Amino acid sequence: EQEGPVEGRETRLRVVLRVRPLTCTETRRGDRRVVHSLGDGTVHVSAARHDATFGFSAVFDAGASQEAVFEGSGMRQLVELAIDGFSCTVFAFGQTGSGKTYTLMGPLGQSEAPAVLGLMQRSFACLLEHSRSHGPGLALSASYLEIYNEQVSAHLAPPPSPCPVPAVSPSLPSVCLSPPQVRDLLSPGPPCALPLRWSKTRGFYAENQLSVDFESLETIVDLLLQGSRRRRTSAHALNKHSSRSHALLTIRIRSRAPSSSPGKQGTLCFVDLAGSERVKDTGSTGELCVEANNINRSLLALGHCISLLAKPQGKRTHIPYRDSKLTRLLARSLGGWGVTLMVACISPSSRCLSETLSTLHYASRAR
Ligand code: ADP
Ligand code: MG
Repeated sequence: EQEGPVEGRETRLRVVLRVRPLTCTETRRGDRRVVHSLGDGTVHVSAARHDATFGFSAVFDAGASQEAVFEGSGMRQLVELAIDGFSCTVFAFGQTGSGKTYTLMGPLGQSEAPAVLGLMQRSFACLLEHSRSHGPGLALSASYLEIYNEQVSAHLAPPPSPCPVPAVSPSLPSVCLSPPQVRDLLSPGPPCALPLRWSKTRGFYAENQLSVDFESLETIVDLLLQGSRRRRTSAHALNKHSSRSHALLTIRIRSRAPSSSPGKQGTLCFVDLAGSERVKDTGSTGELCVEANNINRSLLALGHCISLLAKPQGKRTHIPYRDSKLTRLLARSLGGWGVTLMVACISPSSRCLSETLSTLHYASRAR
């Protein structure tokens, strides 16, 4: 396995925690706060039979602004490393409703107030600012994929035609709506399954995925909005689809070096992971149950790869990227020249206690 020059646990992998505020509904019904930040990167969870402390590279409490998360999580340094040619990945992890999308994108479509822009818009601005102020600038392009319903069992798999158009009819059982597994969120056409391929030069990639060049903040923010709207549209048709899918927005960064010298090539990948909640909490049965199990399988595969990668070099064994589509697509970003930031998101509410504990355990295991 290829090794990059970024070594050591802290530099290759940072895990930070964000605790969202109690929502109006939670406050109105009198939910208790069971998560308390102790400062110094630790949080304390206290409830009837649970009493535990967890440590992170940084903890952002309910009052932390979007800007504070951008500056305090190391996101700016990650953007700079990507400009320097590294493969950088940011994950938002946690149960549905814990603030993953808010942290990455802000309240998309609801407010464009600068104060609530998420890590993504802030990183885009940082990239474009760098491009404007440094010599020949950067060549930037974006792709935006969704991974849905990993490894469905054979009888549930979508038809093998190159581009199945899902039959949307309310009279059909939901198993017939089984959507594509990897979908291009930048493609304006009907949802279309993209096969995963592997090549020596590119590693794993989704065949025919669109890659769009951009030079302005308006263009890339617009791509993000359009793609996220496509993801949410399916949420209506397919019942909480977006909470069960992973969304990966990847920016490729090439320095426009004079043609004689080899240009640097970095990537910056933002991953809005599927909700980490367990099946019993979603009330799924039958084929939905298959989905939930498979999502958890890919999150487990990811956690496993990340924790192996975080081990000191000499102690590393084989990294099982092939265990899920998610880890295949991220293999390049995670290994070798990879630098990872994981943002674990939790709710402070007593009602979310068991999922919160499971997120905290997952995140501290990765660390
Ligand atoms: P997820 O993507 O994990 O399912 P969301 O990001 O959609 O969760 O957040 C759920 C709700 O909580 C949304 O209405 C969102 O606007 C709100 N929210 C999440 N995090 C924050 C925060 N830090 N500050 C204010 N509102 C938040
Ligand atoms: Mg979300």
